[in-house]
Amino acid sequence: MSVESWIAEQKNRLIEDLVTFLRFPSISAQPAHRADLHRTAQWLRVQLEALGFTVSLLGDPPVVYGRYDGPTGAPTVLFYGHYDVQPPDPLEAWTSPPFEPRLTDEAIYARGATDDKGQVFAHLAAWRYLQQQEGRLPVSLHVVIEGQEETGSEVLYEVLAGQGQAWRSDAVLVSDTAFFSEEVPTLTVGLRGLLYTEIRVRGPARDLHSGTLGGVVENPALALARILVALKGPDGRIRVPGFYDRVRPPDAQERALWRSLPACESYYLELTGAPELAGEVGFSPLERVSVRPTLDVNGLWSGYTGPGSKTIIPAEAAAKVSMRLVPNQDPERIWEAFAAYVREVAPPGVTVEVERLHPPAPPFETPTDSPFYKAAEEALRVAWGKAPIPLREGGSIPVLSALSKAAGGPVILMGFGLPTDALHSPNEHFRWRQLWGAVKALTYWYKRVGSLPK
Ligand SMILES: [Zn+2]
Repeated sequence: MSVESWIAEQKNRLIEDLVTFLRFPSISAQPAHRADLHRTAQWLRVQLEALGFTVSLLGDPPVVYGRYDGPTGAPTVLFYGHYDVQPPDPLEAWTSPPFEPRLTDEAIYARGATDDKGQVFAHLAAWRYLQQQEGRLPVSLHVVIEGQEETGSEVLYEVLAGQGQAWRSDAVLVSDTAFFSEEVPTLTVGLRGLLYTEIRVRGPARDLHSGTLGGVVENPALALARILVALKGPDGRIRVPGFYDRVRPPDAQERALWRSLPACESYYLELTGAPELAGEVGFSPLERVSVRPTLDVNGLWSGYTGPGSKTIIPAEAAAKVSMRLVPNQDPERIWEAFAAYVREVAPPGVTVEVERLHPPAPPFETPTDSPFYKAAEEALRVAWGKAPIPLREGGSIPVLSALSKAAGGPVILMGFGLPTDALHSPNEHFRWRQLWGAVKALTYWYKRVGSLPK
């Protein structure tokens, strides 16, 4: 039976299972949901065991690990995905509750629909089809589905450190990225790195009366504002000394490809809802979100923010500041330069602490000449009727470098999301066309890879 006929026949059952998966509020950032993470991992264990995997749950929250021994001589693939999701807040911005999936003709709406449960589910469905049709999977598999991707992958890093050679694979397959658009199937060939920091500014020993003592001490909120303003110029350039030293400029071929895409200002205006675009002068919006590094304030707080007024000079102020890095920037060097610069531009009268939160992710690139990449190109051509384009994506999957080191093979980033899926935002969704297309493409890829010489 063709995969299309099988999907048509199994559709209700598949949707029912996806809905079950999406109902678990597996929010890794919130300790209150720890039990939900365990329940989700258990559910995955049952799914994988039914497909013939030997499953273990490693650590807390568990990394779901499944092992499948394919035909002798077939390549081994490490599949990586995550079952944890971002917090759904603000709840009032959702048109239906985030953990009660809503089905429309076009899409399924729920937190995690595209990032990453829906995409993980496409693999479960492809494996189910292959098992039912052929009695076995065409490759050997290490399946690694973690519950902390959104919060730093701490357990997976530990598990990886203890693995030695156990997870050696011929290729790594990840579906946690997106197409350029519904009409432009895409293979991701690079991801930006991530460096995440927190700046804390302290002034007086406690909040002070801003009348009786206003005028003799530095205000930490203002001091923090000065630091933040010093980080980036009005031309969008980051002012940390040496920040751009190792940034590799895009090559002519890449620039020509991007110019052929309809990634104009109006596209990003619509996507963001911002009144106007901003960013680094001299680069197109698409370049600014993929091959250029950025720096952003992700949160800041200080003083009194409740209703009405409170006349104080706050004792402290703090901000979370993150940077997306590109080849060949070195996160360690950038971190040192950043911390030194923040201290240097801080005004007198306050103390400043700069801290790095979770291990930094180096920028990531993947080769396009491996047979596994070629198989992915063919798979998307078969499922979408046109050849995919290679693109670098602006986001980061921090644990990827460690995973690819453990596996040893090339990493294939064959993701099926869309930029309009509202991942990490209210009303996250995954379009049916993307889900069923993914099942078709993945079925093709696993079969094709199964026929490669080891
Ligand atoms: Zn994700």
